[in-house]
Amino acid sequence: MEKLYEGKAKIVYPGPEAGTYRVYYKDDATAFNAQKRGTIAGKGVVNNRISAQLFRYLEAHGVPTHFLRELSEREMLVRQVEIVPLEVIVRNRTAGTFAKRYGVEEGRPLARALVEFSLKNDALGDPLIYDEAALALGLLSEGELARIRELALRVNEALKAFFLERGLELIDFKLEFGRLPDGTIVLADEISPDTMRLWEVGTGEKMDKDRFRRDLGGVEEAYQEVLRRVVGGAG
Ligand code: 5GP
Repeated sequence: MEKLYEGKAKIVYPGPEAGTYRVYYKDDATAFNAQKRGTIAGKGVVNNRISAQLFRYLEAHGVPTHFLRELSEREMLVRQVEIVPLEVIVRNRTAGTFAKRYGVEEGRPLARALVEFSLKNDALGDPLIYDEAALALGLLSEGELARIRELALRVNEALKAFFLERGLELIDFKLEFGRLPDGTIVLADEISPDTMRLWEVGTGEKMDKDRFRRDLGGVEEAYQEVLRRVVGGAG
């Protein structure tokens, strides 16, 4: 089947029905704007299953998504959307590029949840972008921006509670949104340990892609453990 698009972690194919795509999750892993490359064995299966479970959970909590159903271990069926070219990052504690940018230690709680935008552009390294610049560039409308912010914060509240019940703290994450043909904004892309920071409650152990980025070891084990807790339920 002809690929429509191949990204760093996923391949998109035409779906079996009009208006759908088939998304295949790969084991390939990249970091630091693809300067670091590798594979995480079984990651495609883990991320497909975690994303599917979280999309279902979010739909039940008032967040419309592109997810339709799982097709196989590594594939899901999604609705075709036009991706808004922004990475929407939500942060609860300082970490990663935010800690570096402002010269603060990682793990400091933020006084309020923060929604940050980056321009989706690999050649430029996904630069941070102001709301005003995104609007001036015509990347989205003011109404869409307000809706995306509202949905991002709703996702944060829902996922924080979901993971806390499973002994994990949601530190930060990246979302992407898309437009359905009628203009409705829906959550798209994936939600997985590739796109979130999850720290073990109590020990602060990293249970996400930072284990790969920072060569901490135990990468596969951490992904499997997150999957186990996501599908295994609370407790
Ligand atoms: P940071 O800006 O600190 O690097 O990332 C903040 C959060 O968003 C982290 O959970 C990180 O995994 C996610 N994130 C930011 N940019 C990207 C990206 O280009 N790809 C992926 N997979 N996740 C990202």
